[in-house]
Amino acid sequence: MITKWEVLSLIWASGVAYTAPRILNRWSLITTCDPIELCQGCRDERRYVMQEGMTYEVMGAAGGPLQVLVEAFAWYLKPFLPALRRAAGRPPLPTCSKGSCLAHTSTRRRA
Ligand SMILES: [Zn+2]
Repeated sequence: MITKWEVLSLIWASGVAYTAPRILNRWSLITTCDPIELCQGCRDERRYVMQEGMTYEVMGAAGGPLQVLVEAFAWYLKPFLPALRRAAGRPPLPTCSKGSCLAHTSTRRRA
C-alpha cells in the first residue's frame, strides 16, 4: 500500500533531485565569473550567495553542498515566494534581466 504521504515525499524528493544540480550550476557560474558580465539582479544574487556561503563555510567541506540542499529543499515554495515576500513587506527578490547577462546567455547556450 502506498500512502499519500509516500507519494508526496516521492514528488518532493524528485523535485530536490531536479533542482539541486541546477542551483549548483547557476551558483558556481555566477560566483566564479566576472560580476561585470552579470546583470544587476544576478549580481545581487551573487552577493547573497557569497554572504550565505560564509555562514556555511564554518561547516567545512559539507558547507557548500548543504547550502545548495537547503535551497533545493524549498523548491516547492518558489512559486509562492514573491507573494510571501510582499506579505512580509520585503522587497522582491532580484531576478535576471536577461539580455546580455552572462547567467542568461550561458544557460541558453547549454540548453
Ligand atoms: Zn542576469
